[in-house]
Amino acid sequence: MTKQYRCWAEVDLNALRENLAQIRNVLAPAKRVLTVVKADAYGHGLRQIAAILMQSGTDIFGVANLAEARAIRSVGKGWPVLMLGACLPSEIDHAVRDEVMATVSSLEEAKGFSAAAKRLGKTAWVHLKINTGMGRLGIAPDQAGSLLQAIRELPAVEVKGLCTHYSSAEDDAEFTQRQRASFAALVQALAHQAGGPFEWLHASSSGGLLLEPDSLCNTVRPGLLVYGVVPKGKRPIDRRFAECVRPALTWKCQVSLVRQVPAGTPISYGHTYLTPKSMHVAIVTAGYGDGYLRAGSHRAQVLIGRQRCAVLGRVTMDQMVVDVTAVPDVRPGDEVVLIGQQGQQQITANDLAEWCHTIPWEVLTNITYRVPRIYRGSHAA
Ligand SMILES: *Cc1c(COP(=O)(O)O)cnc(C)c1O
Repeated sequence: MTKQYRCWAEVDLNALRENLAQIRNVLAPAKRVLTVVKADAYGHGLRQIAAILMQSGTDIFGVANLAEARAIRSVGKGWPVLMLGACLPSEIDHAVRDEVMATVSSLEEAKGFSAAAKRLGKTAWVHLKINTGMGRLGIAPDQAGSLLQAIRELPAVEVKGLCTHYSSAEDDAEFTQRQRASFAALVQALAHQAGGPFEWLHASSSGGLLLEPDSLCNTVRPGLLVYGVVPKGKRPIDRRFAECVRPALTWKCQVSLVRQVPAGTPISYGHTYLTPKSMHVAIVTAGYGDGYLRAGSHRAQVLIGRQRCAVLGRVTMDQMVVDVTAVPDVRPGDEVVLIGQQGQQQITANDLAEWCHTIPWEVLTNITYRVPRIYRGSHAA
């Protein structure tokens, strides 16, 4: 059925469902899960993923823009949605009208929400972000008290949550613990000031969830882990956690041509690879136009005939050349795995990221629109 595509991604919806259940398993029972579905659900397809996560009991969604929030609402109403980035001035009205919660770091933003909400006859819901070390959004901890006070004095704005973001959870235990301590110290004081606990209290994305004990927050914010990819860094991750999820996405293409080439044959643009001996090469139907990073030239591997095959020379827009000398009987139409399993062999998003000198988040979100996503498992939308 997939033979009609040159390059495609298969998304296993059961894996997503089970990953969310497994994440819940490793958390304290009362903890709520904000599933992050920005960037088309990390390239998996926002509508389908939102539907399956709704069925699987996500508590709240995290998005990067209002189009994503609207897509979620079109699949199912009633789920809270949090904008993770700062709203643009031009987005504030929409956010308030669509009842999307906003992440706010300054009084200026809060005033914008207050004015919009008043004008629209609504209440704007915001989460106050604290910069404990990420250095992107958020108010400095020592100014958080006065900001909260000022926001509480604005009409039509309600502070629904308090949050922070770890910058180095996968790599730097000491720095992360300092961030956590700084947030913890504030939470007590601000909750007292707000006259009660915050409805949403959150700090951990996938890395934090796996590596930082967290009795303080009532919500976690995993993205990558929900899709079954464990973030890799310098800090060792408990195997019990690292093996609790499985990748939902498999990325494939096909062999279009097989050639026997003599020693000394230059391969692909720039002649950056010369065959050292007589070789069997396969041309496969994926390239950077499909989002296969060109940085994988000379370094990446694919699976053909249940074996690992090296990418030779430069990755081109729609094709690449791979070494199939050691693979018997390769034929046009054979399936090629770019990410996923074939027999005993597996290539993970982490592997491909390492070959391409990048991170699995980029590998996944880089898969382009040209690549159809084929859904397997329990259908939702
Ligand atoms: C993207 C994002 C997340 C999810 O991060 P993962 O590492 O994919 O789990 C969590 N929180 C915020 C604020 C984000 O922007």
